[in-house]
Amino acid sequence: MFNKIGLISGVIIFCCGCSLFRKAKPVFLEADHNKSKEYASFITKEDLFNNLSVLSADSLEGRETTKPGQKKAAHFIKNFFISNNIPSPPSTNYFQKFNIGISDFKRATLVVDNDTLDIIKDFYLFGNTKDTSFSDVNVVSVGYGIIDGDYNDYLNLDVKNKVVIINEGLPESSTVSNSWQSWRKKQKLATEKGALAVITIKQDYSSSIERIAPFLLNPQMKMHKDVLAQSNMIPNFCISQQVFTDFFKVANKVSFKVDINYLADAENVLGYIEGDENKEEVLVISAHYDHIGYDNGEICNGADDDGSGTVSLMSIAKAFIEAKKNGFTNKRSILFLAVSGEEKGLFGSRYYTDNPVFPLKNTIADLNIDMVGRIDTVHTDINYIYLIGSNKISKELHNINEMVNDKFIGIDLDYTFNSDDDPNNFYYRSDHYNFAKNDIPVIFYFSGIHRDYHKPTDDIEKINFDKLHKTAKYVFFTAWELVNRESRIK
Ligand SMILES: [Zn+2]
Repeated sequence: MFNKIGLISGVIIFCCGCSLFRKAKPVFLEADHNKSKEYASFITKEDLFNNLSVLSADSLEGRETTKPGQKKAAHFIKNFFISNNIPSPPSTNYFQKFNIGISDFKRATLVVDNDTLDIIKDFYLFGNTKDTSFSDVNVVSVGYGIIDGDYNDYLNLDVKNKVVIINEGLPESSTVSNSWQSWRKKQKLATEKGALAVITIKQDYSSSIERIAPFLLNPQMKMHKDVLAQSNMIPNFCISQQVFTDFFKVANKVSFKVDINYLADAENVLGYIEGDENKEEVLVISAHYDHIGYDNGEICNGADDDGSGTVSLMSIAKAFIEAKKNGFTNKRSILFLAVSGEEKGLFGSRYYTDNPVFPLKNTIADLNIDMVGRIDTVHTDINYIYLIGSNKISKELHNINEMVNDKFIGIDLDYTFNSDDDPNNFYYRSDHYNFAKNDIPVIFYFSGIHRDYHKPTDDIEKINFDKLHKTAKYVFFTAWELVNRESRIK
């Protein structure tokens, strides 16, 4: 489950256009459910436990995208598919690789004459910036760094090829527009004036560094194509008034190095069970196998988030391949899509839907499983699941999923978070969203937030395997119906 609500709130308007109901007809289950019940028995608590023991072990170091633990998890899932004779989609080799651009602000250096300043303690670098390095550059103070009407901090100053020092905020008793509060606007003006870098004197360095340090200490990731549109802005270094007094008042020259942007790769892991009669139609079952890595030096094992969904996906794949081995091939095809990059911003699923292995128009639905192994603070027993998105694109999918529950599972279906005004925005916070925005029907299966969410304490000991088992079977029965019913859901 992705945590940065702010980053994705901008896309909400975009999605509204696709949330129209399609026509609903009365729904009956059409698949052979004597067989589904038989093969559901291949989903076992033992397998769920054994696979989760591997995925949530400390040796995987929290499976952070691009890190060795994520690679180990990817290989584990791939080897699971291979050892169960679950093929990769044609023309792939289980992995769908994608590039991630990383900005690691810790790699910035700033030297004043012969003094090397300490990152965090003395300075930080912030915002979009190109990689750029210069030595022994002259420094010039430009007041507040503003030109607005008659007000001009750059009057008679030549800042070309120099480092400019700028005060944060606005000059007192002037008529400059409030928009000059923006350091970005000042950075842009300094860039246009030909300066090589900005040094901003913060009014309250200590409170801003407290807020920003977690960002700076964790490299920030973006999808590769966002990185290609890298900023042409000069670096913006921030310092305190004290550091200005101690180092810059008498400074002759400044040297700096901004070499913070680099590429790394991550992979989605794909297993595929081809259908027979309608094999060109594909159901996607997705879960993200990445997690957040470390938190203050402690490993976050992500047993629930989303080890629980990943092992569910693996067990469901096993049940379907057992059926196929025994001659009960699914009518439609199934793609088991274990994605990475979810915690960084739903990257893996976005990459998949931007570069689908099977045409999106043939993708009948995405059943996404993210955090299904715990009981949240609202419920007191295991007999519930939150369903999100099921009715937003296909009422038929919603009805099938409800009927499957009535017939085979019998738990409370909780739609609290399906409301369009859910303040948590869960609909936008896991991988199904990238399918939904392409008008593909989705269901997000979720058992809710708990106090170990994104903490080092999200461990396997806290997983309720009865609940996990029940949920995995629920998704399996719904999937069985979707890939075996007479016609594709509408
Ligand atoms: Zn998460």
